[in-house]
Amino acid sequence: MSVAQSTASPGGSPVAIDAAWETVIGLEVHVQLRTRTKMFCRCENRFGAEPNELVCPVCLGYPGTLPVTNQHAVDLAIRLALALGCEVRRRSIFARKNYFYPDLPKGYQISQYDQPLAEGGAVPLPSGRKVRLHRIHLEEDAGKLLHEVPGGGPLPGRSLVDFNRCGVPLVEIVTEPEIRSPEDAQAYLQTLHQVLLYTGASDGNMEEGSLRCDANLSLRPTGYRTLGTKTEVKNLNSFRHVAKALEYERERQLHILTAGGRVEQETRSFEPASGATRSLRSKEEAHDYRYFPEPDLAALVLTEQRVDRQAELLPELPWVKSARFREAYGLRAEEAALLAGSVPLATYYERAVAAYPAGARSIANWVMTEILRELKRRNVQLQDPGSEDPGRAGEVIPPERLAAIVALVDSGDLSATAAKDVLAEAWDTTETPDEIVDRLGLRQVRDDDQLEVWVDAAIAANTKAVTQYGGGRKQALGYLVGQVMKASRGSAEPRAAQEILRRKLTGSAPSP
Ligand code: ADP
Ligand code: MG
Ligand code: ZN
Repeated sequence: MSVAQSTASPGGSPVAIDAAWETVIGLEVHVQLRTRTKMFCRCENRFGAEPNELVCPVCLGYPGTLPVTNQHAVDLAIRLALALGCEVRRRSIFARKNYFYPDLPKGYQISQYDQPLAEGGAVPLPSGRKVRLHRIHLEEDAGKLLHEVPGGGPLPGRSLVDFNRCGVPLVEIVTEPEIRSPEDAQAYLQTLHQVLLYTGASDGNMEEGSLRCDANLSLRPTGYRTLGTKTEVKNLNSFRHVAKALEYERERQLHILTAGGRVEQETRSFEPASGATRSLRSKEEAHDYRYFPEPDLAALVLTEQRVDRQAELLPELPWVKSARFREAYGLRAEEAALLAGSVPLATYYERAVAAYPAGARSIANWVMTEILRELKRRNVQLQDPGSEDPGRAGEVIPPERLAAIVALVDSGDLSATAAKDVLAEAWDTTETPDEIVDRLGLRQVRDDDQLEVWVDAAIAANTKAVTQYGGGRKQALGYLVGQVMKASRGSAEPRAAQEILRRKLTGSAPSP
């Protein structure tokens, strides 16, 4: 049962209630940067090690140790900020964010507060809307509490702690409160995720927690400027969960507000099994982090040269690539956005197009359907760009060979159905599509003389259908094409055969 539907309003539909309230969403995303080592020590930044294997006195917060900033993490954060159009501060400050939690051995997290690395910027969505960013700052991750024995089994009344994640470099990316729907929130995250992979700032691995989202939502009467009271759903680690949690929160707050109640400012958690959120703590229990500048680290000062260097390393960004695909290849917006979704996929597509430029549109269709389906079935990932061959034999069919198959279909040498068989064969062998077509006897006959022989035979043997066609029964033509196909044992190219049939039956000139 949906809360909106259950809300009593005389004659009012859920849509009418929705229209009276405007949804306001702001997202805070934590992204683990793809570095070799942690943010302030030399421990490895790696997922999946044995618990507490990747620790040292610095990231365990021993007294007397000193942090040393990982410059590669800073560079990746600069690159990401530039990709998102942010203003990068030439001088930013690390700050201590103090709180007690068992996964935080230092008792504070090194973060940035009033002078963050970057501000402003925006993420363009495929819909054409965009989400403006408030800020991006650098910080370190905390450890992880385990409430079950690793590998299974409950731990009644106790928890374990794994400090491997302590000190892993993070950026926090905070949007302005101006996302208007859970769908847009999800689209924002998907686009952001693409940028992380495009720029190499993060591995973007959601299952391993490389990207975690806190989702804030409030409602306000439509037309109001001031924001309503928000709730924050913490630690969502999938796009789907973010959308679900926000949908739930929207309905829950709508229910409270339309009943004349007040939304409590609180932090909530999402339970995937039920799709519900539940309260973790209220505003009264909110933390006072007592931020102050980190005394053990100097200000982070960036030279122009350093920022320029990162600007030079920026790839063509997903929305730019997508616009170019629309322009250059005549693709629809959704097609272009899908193919530009990852660099390996876009590279694969463009390599195929380079081999058969006239086939840009049909190649797009083949990549989006057959190639993606087959990759999924085989559980194979396209190679990273930069590798010599984005199609290694046996893993994915090389793009040039796909192009050759599509060209055979476009020229009428191969039927679309037979082409799927050729694709399957060409995936695992080194035979060319041409060779496969001939070996399997799939080449369609387009030779007019040969086609005319079959057409004449079909006309002679099916006088009834011919008469019907002459009497205006257009379907008879389809039947006759079928007879030609039969006579040719399936090898006639149907469009050409139909054209010859039509011409012979009506005595008209060939259509251009
Ligand atoms: P907090 O101090 O609670 O973390 P911030 O002002 O730092 O709150 O904002 C955190 C996130 O919440 C930002 O993404 C911001 O856009 C969003 N946000 C702030 N106020 C609201 C609101 N009233 N409704 C929805 N989102 C909001
Ligand atoms: Mg917050
Ligand atoms: Zn360490």
